[in-house]
Amino acid sequence: MDADVEQVKTRRARDRDRMDKGLVTNPKDLERMQHELVSLERRINSLEDDELEVMERLEEAQKSLESLTAQLATADARLVELATERDKKLAVIDEEAARISRERAPAVDGLPADLLALYDRLREQKGGVGAAALRRRRCEGCSLELTASDLGQIAKAPSDEVLRCEECNRILVRTSESGI
Ligand SMILES: [Zn+2]
Repeated sequence: MDADVEQVKTRRARDRDRMDKGLVTNPKDLERMQHELVSLERRINSLEDDELEVMERLEEAQKSLESLTAQLATADARLVELATERDKKLAVIDEEAARISRERAPAVDGLPADLLALYDRLREQKGGVGAAALRRRRCEGCSLELTASDLGQIAKAPSDEVLRCEECNRILVRTSESGI
């Protein structure tokens, strides 16, 4: 674009120079050159308008680029913040899991392997709760109230028999408040 304007301006200067120096003497040539000068002037104006428009667009694009760069920087900073928060929370969860695992060890110590396997399987299937207390005739895993006949059977069952809730299938643990 600049080169175009400069080329046209050079031509205009050369023509003017020739005319000013009186090198063009033929009236027809003079007239033709004057026409050409007018046309060159128009061409220069048009090219300068184009140049201005391009510069305006460039300015807009630069502003837009600056704004997007700033947004990107903000998003990057937020991402770092969130990743740090996530790592902190993960560390807390890991610590909690380790603590629970330490506490679980003595609790499961001495339990039969098949009972433990059943419990682990149920816990996985039942949203982390594999066993539920029987309290006031209800299974605390699913809130089902047991029928009198079920309660009667439970009352008769040996204390080491593994009971299961008929509704949710969890291991049912008898308590002093079972209501049997
Ligand atoms: Zn249940």
